[in-house]
Parts: sequence; C-alpha cells; structure tokens
Amino acid sequence: MLKEKGIFDNNVLQAIANVPRHQFLDSSFEEFAYRDVAFPIRAKQTISQPYTVAFQSQSLGLSRGSKVLEIGTGSGYQAAVLVEMGMKVFSIERQKDLFNFSKSILLKLGYNITQKFGDGYKGIPSYAPFDGIIVTAASPDIPGDLVEQLSPKGSLVIPIGYPENDQVMKRIKKSNTVEGYEEEDLGSFRFVPMLKDIESGDSF
Ligand code: SAH
Repeated sequence: MLKEKGIFDNNVLQAIANVPRHQFLDSSFEEFAYRDVAFPIRAKQTISQPYTVAFQSQSLGLSRGSKVLEIGTGSGYQAAVLVEMGMKVFSIERQKDLFNFSKSILLKLGYNITQKFGDGYKGIPSYAPFDGIIVTAASPDIPGDLVEQLSPKGSLVIPIGYPENDQVMKRIKKSNTVEGYEEEDLGSFRFVPMLKDIESGDSF
C-alpha cells in the first residue's frame, strides 16, 4: 500500500514492516494500529500516519549508518523506524510526559536512541553535525540553528507553515547562496505545531 503511494525505498518499507506500531498507541486505538492514519497520543499530540513517517524517512535520502536528529519524539514511533533503517538516532521532545512515555517504550522494545528533553528549535549542538534532521511538527519558518547543525551534504526535512492550514514539506540543504541553504518543495501535509521552548505547565 505504501509502495502504491510512492514509497520506493526498500530500507524504509522494511523498517515500517518491522516496527510494532500498536505498542506506540494508547490501548484504546490498538486495533487500528496498522491502518494508514494518524492517531491521538497523550498531551494532545498525534502519532503520524505510516505514509508520512515513510515519506519523511525516504526524503532524507540516507544510507544505513547515517546520523539522524528527530525533532518531536512524540510516541517514539518515527524514531524506532529510523533505528530499523540502520540510523544512529537522536531525538528531542519538549513535553515531559511524552519524553517519559517514549523513553520507556523505546527501551522496552530495545531501540537505542539518544533522547533529549528540550526545545527542538535549538537542536543538539554537542552532537552536530547530522546527516539528516527530520522535524515532525509544523514550523512557521526554517530554524537557523537546525540548518547550521547539518553536515555539508545533509538534508533537513521539515513541514513549513502555520497550523491552521496544510504545510509544505521542504527539503533543505546547505549551499553557497546568500541564505546559506537551498530548499525543495516535496508536497502538502498536516502536522501539529512546533512550539517554542519546553512545556511551561500552563500552556496546556
Ligand atoms: N514523531 C512523532 C509524532 C510527533 S507529533 C511520532 O512518531 O509519534 C509532534 C511532536 O512534536 C509532539 O510530541 C510535540 O510535543 C513535539 N514538539 C512540538 N514542538 C517541539 C519543540 N519545539 N521541540 C521538541 N518537540 C516539539
């Protein structure tokens, strides 16, 4: 089914097939876990639909052994898919509840990921550069700190736009232009918003 929708990378298809998606969902949704739709997880967030996870993973264009940073760990599902693809994975989440939940499930399933509780807009300078950065929340603009943390040939895959509308998936690469990067449009998607700073406690 993902193949018919344009997912051609066998490494991605195999990784999606290997990850037990039901483990990342609230138990009330378990029976729907293998349908190609997004679902609510805790703290008003969603686990992306498999097609979106596959599309973003494929858009990185990376081979096994590459270093990838994910912004928005959420349930941990996308991070697990990246590990199954053979990537060395780092992931940041700004909501404590989701950070803790994803940490325990990833540990339980044996997925080795370096997780950070913090603001994804800042990336993780101490582990940079990254061959790929995947942002799984909608950002109104291209975060300069993340572009900076890309390796010279690395790709940043990020949905750009405001939460009320669809966003445009962009692939950003460093270049010698005035902006310091070039961008490619990959299609239209819908994500929850990327918020500034860590969860303050009174914003939810
Ligand atoms: N990748 C997730 C889906 C994430 S939904 C999965 O596979 O399940 C988007 C996530 O981004 C939410 O968990 C939200 O809390 C998180 N998020 C939003 N803004 C963020 C920020 N500035 N830094 C880190 N995480 C952020």
